[in-house]
Amino acid sequence: MSPKEKPGRVYLVGAGPGALGLATLRSRELIERAEVLVYDYLCNAEMLQWAQAGAERIYAGKSGTCHTLTQEEINRLLIEKAEAGKLVVRLKGGDPYVFGRGGEEALALAEAGVPFEVVPGVTSAIAAPAYAGIPVTHRDRASTVTFVTGHEDPTKSDSAIDWGHLAGLRGTKVFLMGVERLGEITARLMAEGADPETPVALVRWGTTARQESIGGTLATVAAEVARRGFAAPAVTVVGEVVKLREELNWYEKLPLFGQRVVVTRTRRQASALTEKLTRLGADVLEISTIRIVPVALAEGERRKLASFSTHFDWVIFTSPNAVELFFAEFFRENRDVRGLGDVKIAAVGPATAKKLGELHLRVDLQPEVYTSERLAESFSEKVVRGARFCLPHGRLADPLLANHLREREGTVEEWTLYDTQPEENDPTGARRRYRQEGAHWITFTSSSTAENWAALGLSPRPGAPVPRAISMGPVTSATLGKLGYELGGESAVATLDSLVETLVKMTIESKYADK
Ligand code: SAH
Repeated sequence: MSPKEKPGRVYLVGAGPGALGLATLRSRELIERAEVLVYDYLCNAEMLQWAQAGAERIYAGKSGTCHTLTQEEINRLLIEKAEAGKLVVRLKGGDPYVFGRGGEEALALAEAGVPFEVVPGVTSAIAAPAYAGIPVTHRDRASTVTFVTGHEDPTKSDSAIDWGHLAGLRGTKVFLMGVERLGEITARLMAEGADPETPVALVRWGTTARQESIGGTLATVAAEVARRGFAAPAVTVVGEVVKLREELNWYEKLPLFGQRVVVTRTRRQASALTEKLTRLGADVLEISTIRIVPVALAEGERRKLASFSTHFDWVIFTSPNAVELFFAEFFRENRDVRGLGDVKIAAVGPATAKKLGELHLRVDLQPEVYTSERLAESFSEKVVRGARFCLPHGRLADPLLANHLREREGTVEEWTLYDTQPEENDPTGARRRYRQEGAHWITFTSSSTAENWAALGLSPRPGAPVPRAISMGPVTSATLGKLGYELGGESAVATLDSLVETLVKMTIESKYADK
């Protein structure tokens, strides 16, 4: 088919205000299908990861005055890609038609005869105030809401904004852009008769974990914003509804709000911890230190898989990765789960047991304390003597468990299922943010992640906060000590929930100490 016969299409898609959960189902569907993605500075970079590996990603920029492509160039790019038969997703922060020039892009497409569709998004004009405890309308306080561009110079005589009329409106006004013009905007509103006592709030990076807000009145807020160096991207809310902020500020009151936490794990594992922390309001920087690279089993080992139960009495899993990779191999050799026969299963802890549970396999033995040492000890003498153990694990596994079983006359075969390699990519920009902004906490779930982290040699720029380490257990803490890290805390038991609990406790204590 020639390009002319397969018409392309452009989707003008709202990316929402920043929080990933506020993206629409339709936006995800289209990003997954996109051949070309043209995105802005304000789009959540995580959304780009929904795209197919082969999709072309083009950054169209626009952070304040730093434009990467001009509007003309963006319009032309969209038309060109569509005319080449591509499915183009033009991803824009918030809603595509609320400022940000989405209307102009749509007109350019219409004029060029390019088919297009618009996918509305959750606009920051409403969402950022909502996440700071401000409903933009309220039956008793504001019956109208006006969205205003802060881009216009309010001292200009030929302004497109009727400032007199705007100042006279009693409802809520939400200004987008123009934080740097705030002094002129508030002065103009007061000059046109607005009450200097009118409450005002600014919310920057609203709905994301980097959110910050600031309050005042028309008379005071500009000086406060300048003093605190409060910068874009932010919305400014003017009106009586701002007074509800104290009472309705659910988001900023979450226990980990304002805490930047580095999560160091392999890409595949990080999400559970990240989700728990994010739910509590933390700003999580997921930085992968290592990649799991599967290793082919030796020929002899592979052959044993086909008749597994005749070779082993026990199979022991010390990580969810090992479960996943072992059973991928197992089912390649066995069409039937009964190939496992009556082999008993041991798991080091709940995450590993959960992975087994997903395969409908019950764990026969799991220690109360989730370490290899305690796992080894929880096998009774009677069970170990003469028993045949299969221990599938990573290349650098701690020999402690196998040695312990061998000392007590068990036979142990260790199978290498995977290798770990340093991760070098930065797909979400988390490493860049860590260097720029630092962090308050960094979590370590094992000695190897601590060692891998140290090997990366990442550090925040001078002046940015250096994170305190939270470890999942005593072995990891000892490793951190050897590596020269200051230990902020250690979780009581080796589970993610306990790790999160420790972090919350430490946060409360450090806030207390600051006061
Ligand atoms: N179409 C977008 C607005 C684009 S104009 C929307 O509907 O949200 C860019 C301005 O949007 C920024 O200068 C800022 O005022 C505002 N903005 C976008 N995302 C924001 C966020 N997460 N928090 C606060 N303001 C935001």
